[in-house]
Amino acid sequence: MTDCLFCRIVAGEIPATVVLETPSVLAFRDIHPKAPVHVLVIPKEHYADIAALGAGDTALAGELLAGVAAVAEKEGLLGDGFRVVFNTGESVGQSVFHAHAHVLGGQTYGDL
Ligand code: C5P
Repeated sequence: MTDCLFCRIVAGEIPATVVLETPSVLAFRDIHPKAPVHVLVIPKEHYADIAALGAGDTALAGELLAGVAAVAEKEGLLGDGFRVVFNTGESVGQSVFHAHAHVLGGQTYGDL
């Protein structure tokens, strides 16, 4: 989708600080980090949110989760732990409608 911000990052039209890239998944640093480590992990193929991705391509959804694990390992988060957030829908704060996992680490969190 040419009008999708994250599709344009995948296409190299908008710069991003890439942390990890596989044939199907891209991970890059959030431009407005909400934690000491804040990385977004996205499927290169466009799905509006994690619900659409899970319903549409379970293999790709699994590859996205493998990307989350690889980012956590690469960023040194496996020891202290990390949080993964999939905002799904405008009412809960989704602002970019291309599925993405927020990988948040380097700080402590309370209960959800
Ligand atoms: O879950 P939500 O849709 O709100 O998350 C979108 C995220 O994309 C935001 O945290 C925002 O800071 C990030 N973003 C980015 N690079 C851009 C535009 C948005 O990292 N060029």
